[in-house]
Parts: sequence; structure tokens; C-alpha cells
Amino acid sequence: MRKPLVAGNWKMNKNHSEAMELLRALTDRSGEIPEGVDVMVAPPALYLSEMAGVANEAIAVGAQDVSTQQEEGAYTGEFSAAMLRSAGVRYAIVGHSERREYHGETDELIREKIAACVNAGIRPVYCCGEVLAQRESGNHVDVVSHQVRIALKGFTADELKDLVVAYEPVWAIGTGKTASSDQAQEMHAEIRNMLSEQFNSDFANSVRILYGGSAKPANAAELFSQPDVDGGLIGGASLKADDFLKVVGAAG
Ligand code: PEP
Repeated sequence: MRKPLVAGNWKMNKNHSEAMELLRALTDRSGEIPEGVDVMVAPPALYLSEMAGVANEAIAVGAQDVSTQQEEGAYTGEFSAAMLRSAGVRYAIVGHSERREYHGETDELIREKIAACVNAGIRPVYCCGEVLAQRESGNHVDVVSHQVRIALKGFTADELKDLVVAYEPVWAIGTGKTASSDQAQEMHAEIRNMLSEQFNSDFANSVRILYGGSAKPANAAELFSQPDVDGGLIGGASLKADDFLKVVGAAG
């Protein structure tokens, strides 16, 4: 049985006091989190260490990115998965479409980030998804299949036991356009099939596949009711405690 996960990606939002206020609102209201739902928030990197100290049992803290470099050294501006782990961080989002678009990240590079997470005991949240033109031309399944195959190449199922996949159609991120629950379910089932082919069916059935792309209180329950949708990666709606807790509640 897969445990749903609802993860909030705060992106580059909130100054220090706003971020602490939001985290405290969530920890104070963590009694509203349904039993059997995992929750993670990914604040700007600057606040990770402090937030990991404040977050309670019910709320894990994740990074929005991580370095490919596994040994410490002269890598200005970078932080390693081992550093995250030492600061109490439990997850790292890797391969978000904004990293792909603005920082040229490829699936080969993202694979190195997944390897860094695996070696340090950080749970990677691997993001994949097609752009609008690829969906409109009917190539979306091939595109996502290619992304997943490259990013997960060379790992064993055991190494990826903590992997989370986030299907995030790029045309739905921050646009207010959400994939329909049928579109989400179709792709999630395809991803699970790919994982079964690339690894094995037990592994495929154990991996949590999150939906991301304008998920919010009004549509979360419908999306999360699909059999292969195991929660969500939430951007805009994670920035207000009320909205985020409603989305979390929809996963219970
Ligand atoms: C995201 O960036 O991962 C995301 C899903 O954003 P939004 O919910 O704002 O579309």
C-alpha cells in the first residue's frame, strides 16, 4: 500500500519571517493532517536548516534542488545531499521543469542528482513532464518515458526504494490549467508501466507518483482519487496554510 505524499514547493517565495510564519502555521495545525498522509515542504534553501529544526514529526522538510557533486570541495554556491542530510532535510526535488528551463538541466544531469540523493539517504522527488507542444502533438507519453528511462538508468530497484516521481505537465505549472484527472491517471499508469519494465512490478507498485500542476483545494480530491495518483507536488497552493492543508486533507 502506497502512503500518499503531499509536498509543497515554495519556490523563491517568502522572506525569512513569512516563511517561518507559514511553517509555524502548518506545525500548529498538523492535527488536521489525516493519518496515513506524508507531508513535506520545500522552502528556499536559505531557510532549510532552521526549518528542519522547527518542523515536527508530521511535516518533513525538503530541498528544491541539490548538487550533483558528492564530495565537498570548491563548488561555489552548491550544497550537497550529505549536507542536506546533516541539517535534518529528508527530501530533495530534482529535475523541476523550472530547473530544466532556466538552468539547462538534462535528464543525464538529473540522474547524477538522484545518485547523490541515493548515496546520502535523501529521498529524491524526480520531476518529469511534457510541454504543451508535445502534448498537442500526441508525443507526451514518449517524452515522459524517455525522461524517466534516462534519469533512472543504471540504478537498482533497491537503490531507488525511496524514490518519489512527480508527473508535472509543464503546461499546467503555475498556469491555472490543470490536467484532467483522466489525463493524470493515464500518464501515471504509463509511468508505473515504465517502472515495471525498467525494474520490476513490485518496485513499480511501491513508488509514489505525485501529480503537480495547478493542483488546489478545488481539484485535489478528484485528482487524488485516481488509482495511480499518490498525492501531489503543490506550488502556488502551498503558500497559504489554509489552502495547503485543504489539499493535504484531500489525500486522506
Ligand atoms: C510546481 O511548480 O511544482 C507546481 C506544481 O506549481 P503550481 O502548483 O503552482 O502549478
